Amino acid sequence: MNLARQLYQLQELDVEIESDEQALKRVTSQIGESQAVLESQARLESEQQSLEELKHQQHTAEWEIDDVTTKIAAAEESLFSGRIKSPKELASLQQEVEMFKARRGRLEEKALSVIDQVEQAEAAVAKTNSELKTLTAEWRRQQKQLAEEKTRLQAALADLKQKWQQLSEQVEPETVEFYQVLRKGKGTAVARVEQGICRGCRISLPTTDLQRVKGNNLVQCSSCGRILFLA
Ligand SMILES: [Zn+2]
Repeated sequence: MNLARQLYQLQELDVEIESDEQALKRVTSQIGESQAVLESQARLESEQQSLEELKHQQHTAEWEIDDVTTKIAAAEESLFSGRIKSPKELASLQQEVEMFKARRGRLEEKALSVIDQVEQAEAAVAKTNSELKTLTAEWRRQQKQLAEEKTRLQAALADLKQKWQQLSEQVEPETVEFYQVLRKGKGTAVARVEQGICRGCRISLPTTDLQRVKGNNLVQCSSCGRILFLA
């Protein structure tokens, strides 16, 4: 095989290897925890905590209502039992009942407001829970895809590197090294010749160069120094 063609093929493999290595790096960096899922989890925890606090407030208010209701019943029982004869004592008891009833009214108002807040908090928890489920499902699906892509890229890279090895073994080590040094310096070591033009620097090649390219020796572009390859 033509030496320039062999180096050109080596270069094509190198380009593919580089591209797959970059893709592998990108995929690997995306494998792991999701910031969106973590944030949603933290929000859910905080909302659940608020809900628990509100429910506790609701229970306290309900307990206080029960307590004052019991007190009202006891006071009214005494008031209407006929056991108390003193008008002064009766008036004082009546006043106590009124006071308890006013207190119960305020407690009921407070309880209603807390119940309203509990309902809002429950709705927020349900919404975040559902969002978290969606995010988690999406994240799992992505992670599965990424893991598959990683496996695919690793296999492709192993295959490409094996091909590179096989191909480079057919070329003198010094020539491979020369190619690698050139590639490191210029990005592209081997340039195609099309219509008498070096595709590396887009300059028309002198006839002598074109003649030499047709042989089996390595010819470098007199303008950019790249190895010329006539397809
Ligand atoms: Zn050139």
